[in-house]
Amino acid sequence: MTETISQPARLGAPAGLPAEILHYIGGRHVPSRSGRTFANADPVSNQPYADVAAGDSEDVAAAVAAATRAFEHGPWPRMLPRDRARILHAIADAIEARDEQIAEFEAWDTGLPIAQARGQARRAAENFRFFADLMIGLGDEAFRVGESQINYTLREPIGVAGLITPWNTPFMLESWKLAPSLAAGCTVVLKPAEWTPLSASLLPAILEEAGLPEGVVNIVHGIGEEAGAALVAHPGVPLISFTGETTTGQIIMRSAADHLKGLSMELGGKSPCIVFADADLDRALDGSVFGVFSLNGERCTAGSRILVQRSIYDQFVARLAERAANVVVGPPEDPSTELGALVHPEHYERVKEYVRIGVAEGASLVAGGSRPAHLAEGNYLAATVFADVTPEMRIFQEEIFGPVVCVTPFEDESDAVRLANSTKYGLAAYVWTNDLRRGHRVAADVKSGMCWLNSHNVRDLRTPFGGIKASGLGHEGGTHSIDFYTHQRVVHVAVGDLAPPRFGARPAFRRR
Ligand code: NAD
Repeated sequence: MTETISQPARLGAPAGLPAEILHYIGGRHVPSRSGRTFANADPVSNQPYADVAAGDSEDVAAAVAAATRAFEHGPWPRMLPRDRARILHAIADAIEARDEQIAEFEAWDTGLPIAQARGQARRAAENFRFFADLMIGLGDEAFRVGESQINYTLREPIGVAGLITPWNTPFMLESWKLAPSLAAGCTVVLKPAEWTPLSASLLPAILEEAGLPEGVVNIVHGIGEEAGAALVAHPGVPLISFTGETTTGQIIMRSAADHLKGLSMELGGKSPCIVFADADLDRALDGSVFGVFSLNGERCTAGSRILVQRSIYDQFVARLAERAANVVVGPPEDPSTELGALVHPEHYERVKEYVRIGVAEGASLVAGGSRPAHLAEGNYLAATVFADVTPEMRIFQEEIFGPVVCVTPFEDESDAVRLANSTKYGLAAYVWTNDLRRGHRVAADVKSGMCWLNSHNVRDLRTPFGGIKASGLGHEGGTHSIDFYTHQRVVHVAVGDLAPPRFGARPAFRRR
């Protein structure tokens, strides 16, 4: 079991921080077989506060064995959807009962502002409730073929699912994969991101309190190239649901090809936010600022390229710069903080390097670009706005994944669409216009998996979620998630007089 450190690393540390984070395999908290660990730090002091078990192929093999036993011999895949749903609702109850602790741990470990971390904890509970209810309502399909046949489908869980998650909103994204895979009847091995293992350490108690059978969820911590790669390579794991960078997704696809695994890939983005001159500009401004600076800008669907019609460009850029300068950057645990600390010094350096690249490329830095003067330590960057960004620039093309936004002018609708489509990504898009006919046209022409028209990013869990182009493969959300985690086999039944063709039934015919 984990211990509690008596001396928090810095002021503001949440109560109950573990000094050690272990794997959870077959219902037991275990260290790595190799005994190896890695240190985890918070993004404000950047001082280690916990040792985390560093999993490798042996730990993954043990976790897959436990998940396989639970799948082949345990009750979980054989339970009625209603009974599984009861447990998923109990998981949601257990999350809600400790949502403040989840939010505190998340803010501490990731640097997300506590107010936003609270929203993510509630959303995690909602993911479990949603997929519990969905599964109860989901029946198999039947098709009558005239008078002769009835066909019906048998939906069944595929087996052990490998879930690999990133460090932005870790607990919520873990729940986004756990809830549908469990609802479908799979057993799982989860590999949380190595920079943010803390909130996943709360999962075992939550799952046990809810009555989830042993071995159904197994958690292996570790470095992506070791623990994650071992999970992808394991022949006993037929499915991998991955969220992370596009380049990691490509590596995973290559490795998964050896065993023809089912893949769901939720990858990177560089999403456009298009503001037409006729838009409600106050709303568009609120949506643009929230769209790129919420969740520290470490958000796959961030509207990180704002395209603004030329006639309102100067005015909009000035207002955007003013608002960005007012975004409250501060300690993650402070409820008034809007933009917290970036997750890790390595990522912080990467984001700052993009600021240097933007300046060197000749973009106009109109807000932020450096550490706020009042925050001497920690991975803090002021909300940063680059104007006059052109499509050739790297800051226009590459995902920065931090509080940095590019602004580019456009002339007319076709110019806006051309600019919006001129990166390799296609995850989200945001369109602001009061001409609804044009809004629908642009929503259709911009090549993205999801588009919000006159709206910030609010998702209904029934809708398909996923990117196109380099932003992903497949869609999750609603029944799409259940389709991913289940086989749908079909049985064709003759009910009428359905005589097969009579090959070889002509006795008189002989070959010469
Ligand atoms: P990452 O790709 O570095 O890591 C994601 C996960 O993959 C981690 O658990 C990591 O340990 C693991 N991993 C790394 N290398 C691996 C390998 N070779 N084999 C198996 N697993 C491996 O991504 P990140 O930096 O943690 O997250 C940020 C990225 O995630 C951004 O690109 C962001 O856009 C993307 N993201 C996408 C979505 C979406 O839904 N499309 C949502 C959130 C984040």
